[in-house]
Amino acid sequence: MLPGETIGILGGGQLGRMIAIEAKKMGYLVICLDPTPDSPCGQVADDQIVARFDDAEAAMQLAERSALVLYEFENIDAAVVELLEKHCRLPQKSHILSIAQDRLTEKSELKRAGFSVAPFIGIRHDSELILAAKELGYPCILKLSRGGYDGKGQLVIRGSGDISAALKQIYNSEQNWVLEKMIPFTSECSAIVARNTAGETAVFPVPENIHRDNILFMSIVPARIAPEMEQAARETALKIAQAFDLVGLLAVEFFVTAEGLVVNELAPRPHNSGHFTFDACYTSQFEQLIRALCGLPFASTELMTPVVMVNILGKDLDKVLRETDRLPPDTKLHIYGKRGERSAKRKMGHLTIKTAFPQEIVSWADQFFS
Ligand code: ADP
Ligand code: MG
Repeated sequence: MLPGETIGILGGGQLGRMIAIEAKKMGYLVICLDPTPDSPCGQVADDQIVARFDDAEAAMQLAERSALVLYEFENIDAAVVELLEKHCRLPQKSHILSIAQDRLTEKSELKRAGFSVAPFIGIRHDSELILAAKELGYPCILKLSRGGYDGKGQLVIRGSGDISAALKQIYNSEQNWVLEKMIPFTSECSAIVARNTAGETAVFPVPENIHRDNILFMSIVPARIAPEMEQAARETALKIAQAFDLVGLLAVEFFVTAEGLVVNELAPRPHNSGHFTFDACYTSQFEQLIRALCGLPFASTELMTPVVMVNILGKDLDKVLRETDRLPPDTKLHIYGKRGERSAKRKMGHLTIKTAFPQEIVSWADQFFS
């Protein structure tokens, strides 16, 4: 697909915004679809269709106006993606999306394909919880099977004393849940892989990810893990991409344990832990996604400098903007332009900090965002 043609993006969040910035740089036109007018992506795109993600008519409009359509997050209506797949060029396809949209399906498919995941049990009714917890043992973690993100819809069950709170969460929810054994990890990391229709692949440097309250707080690159673990993360991500016939981008989150890597979850799209690639790699995850889908050859994913990426949540945005003189040298400030409600945990932007001494930046961030 040639520059000058239009890329349609299902979703208008920060991921779409960064895809659009790279697409515009490469000479493509961009239209996004998102229910929020003037969305983060809409501000950068040539146009935005304001509509819900399950609005098939609006999605068809997007398809008619675009030479190619892509999705930028998972919670797009799968039926809409299936419909578009039939009517326009949507190289990412619906298959891997439908797997990643549902934790239970995702874990079952990963296990079936031979990848290591945390022991888990699917729960449809509150009466199944006690038995499942007994079988897995404590501590375990209850997660919504569909629609949860950034720790939303998750509850850690440390012992039988927490069961009643968990039962309350499930009771009458009419949702499916997954109970998962807690993995005593030494750290977390992720691997992001791009794959095109010819089966060619490109893997990014592996970030080490530190979460606070289940939300990504920072990513440190290179990861402070054994080189064999880093290699295993890259190889596992490549194998999963192949097993699920990925076209586009896939992020694989891992728990690093003394016994090796455990796959936590998948995201078939650009990933927060890959935001460092925007400033610190020769080619960003966003550009590589466009290359994968538009049929351009991949470019180098080489890391140009050690780097730390720190998320800016709603509760910290004012402080960051007020105190820019306290940010470390070589800090790149990314603000997503989100309108409306600014809840404490909403991701509003991020910092990318080039440094020869990542540990110093980690200490600085711990203090600045304490
Ligand atoms: P989300 O979709 O919100 O990212 P995750 O399943 O990745 O949900 O959980 C967020 C974070 O919570 C993980 O990165 C990890 O820090 C912690 N966590 C989740 N599941 C487990 C588990 N089974 N064992 C240990 N920690 C977990
Ligand atoms: Mg996660």
